[in-house]
This record gives sequence, C-alpha cells and structure tokens, in this order.
Amino acid sequence: MPIKFPFSRRRPGPTDAWTKCPDCEQQVFNRQLERNHRVCPHCGHNFRMSIGERIDLLLDEGSFVERDAGLESVDPLGFFDQKPYPDRLEAARVKTGLREAAVWGTGSVSGRRVAIGLFDFRFMGGSMGSVVGEKIARCFEAALVERIPAVIVSASGGARMQEGTLSLLQLAKTTAPLVRLDAAGVPFISILTDPTTGGVLASFASLGDVILAEPKALIGFAGARVASGTVGEELPEGFQTAEFLLEHGLVDLVVPRAELRVTLGRLLALLPPAAVEEGWDDDERRWGPIGVLSGIAEKLGGAVSETVGLDVEGEPTAGNGRSPERAAEQTLERER
Ligand SMILES: [Zn+2]
Repeated sequence: MPIKFPFSRRRPGPTDAWTKCPDCEQQVFNRQLERNHRVCPHCGHNFRMSIGERIDLLLDEGSFVERDAGLESVDPLGFFDQKPYPDRLEAARVKTGLREAAVWGTGSVSGRRVAIGLFDFRFMGGSMGSVVGEKIARCFEAALVERIPAVIVSASGGARMQEGTLSLLQLAKTTAPLVRLDAAGVPFISILTDPTTGGVLASFASLGDVILAEPKALIGFAGARVASGTVGEELPEGFQTAEFLLEHGLVDLVVPRAELRVTLGRLLALLPPAAVEEGWDDDERRWGPIGVLSGIAEKLGGAVSETVGLDVEGEPTAGNGRSPERAAEQTLERER
C-alpha cells in the first residue's frame, strides 16, 4: 500500500467546513481552528493534533528529518480479536497516512537541535507496541550519542493489546535508555497531551526531567472508573487532568498550546546537555530527579490493570464535524 507523505498539514475535507466544539458546542470554522493551533476560540478547548501539525507547532520550519521511517509492525502473535491485527494496522495506515502510531527524528527548536518523538492518537489510539517502543528507545539513544536533548510529545491509550506481553516489554525498553541519559546529563523533556494514559504514562512519559502538559489534557494510568474501583474509594473530581497533576507535583507546567514552542525553547536554553569531560564517570549523576520519578512510575505501574478502555475504532459519522477522534472521546466520556 502506498503511504501518503505523512506530515502534510492539510486535513481532509473543505476548509470552509465547520467543526463543532465538543466542550462549548459552538461551531468553529475549520480554517479558523487551524490558524488558532486547533484551539477553540470560544472556550479554549484543545482539539487533538496530527504529527504534522505538532511538528509545525514546535519545530523550526523545515528542520525535521525523520529517522527509521520504514519500521513497521508485524503480527508476532497472530492476534485476532474482532478482526485480525494486520487488518487493524492497515485501516489505521489508510486513515492516518502513517506507518505507525509514533514518528521520531531530529529537528530544532529556536535553533537548538533535539531528538523528538511524536504520537498520533488516531493511529490505534496512539498505542505502544514493539515498533513504537523501538522508535522511542532509538530517539533516546540518538539523543545520548549526539548529546542533544530528547523531547517526546505523547498522546496514547497505553500499551497495544494486540502485541500482548511484547507491548509490556516496551515499558522497560523505553525507560532503560533514560537512566543513561540522566547519567550523561542529557535532558529529556516530556510533553503530555490529551490523552496520555496506560503504559506510556507508566514508563518514559512520566520520567521527564521536565514534564509539560497541555491544558485539560487527560493524564492517568487507567480509566477513572477502574482506578476508583481498584482503590475502593471515590476519587476527586478531575483527578486525571493536567491541572490536578500540576497541583500534586507530577506535572511541572501546564502550557497553553500557543506558548508551547517558546516555553520549550526557553527550557532547552536553560538545560544544555552536559559537556563530555576527560575521565567522564558514567555512573555519576549530574542532575535530574529520575530516581524520584521512577518511584512515581512504579506506583502508577503497580496500581491497576493495563486496559484503559479507550475505543478508538469508533466509526466516523458524516456531517456536523463529528470526527473519529470525537467518537473516541465520547467513548472515553462514557467510561468516566
Ligand atoms: Zn469551545
């Protein structure tokens, strides 16, 4: 199957069409939405972004160079739920024009080079299987070798159940290189967008030296109902939002989308990778609270089962700007 150039900014459908905001229910011109970084001009609701839009939002123009673009998932378990896994992959490829749920490469932010990985939630809920895990791990490894900061923009329902245990192994695979980055004094900035859940949150995404989040993003390990049932108590309203997690210390900063690029540039200026010195001791920790954060990840990881109950296969409905993403959001709302 031919793969479309994945980073086109253009979205399907006429630009004079409307999209209904799921938060305030106002109609927004698609053109206006694109100009506004896909933020509702009436209520500030953050619509999800494609990888191409993220690259446009964060990186210096034309600076992104994709790596490992050819990596593709296979079907190691012969997994079949309602349909075979290869069919789901194929459908996701056609829908998004991407080969997998994540892309990584190098680029620059305000002139500073970074290794950056990005997720697209539309591709099987941004789920992390072997290929996504491999891409994230390679992103970190390149950051270490080239001594440039690593940045990951997460949007994921967690581990990919169609790859079973192999998906769970990605938690270890993506976390291990972060210990080496930490020891080498190379920063990792984690950006959590709506939604960042499951095995992605329970591994590298919560291990950033700095953790940024977008306003109102859903961030949690399991679905609210499951989490509540597991600990056997009512959990506070909105306990899985970026704002709640900022108040409780997991997130360092909630950044409006329009300020994300500037904030990222400022952080990169403040956190230059440590220079390689003569007689460098790799075990020496330069800075970074990774120990504390792995503690948090452990707590998150041990709490509950993997499933977050995101139905991302919802059929798109014609008209009224109702998108597949919206269908997934509605499923999510029912779960809450
Ligand atoms: Zn709105």
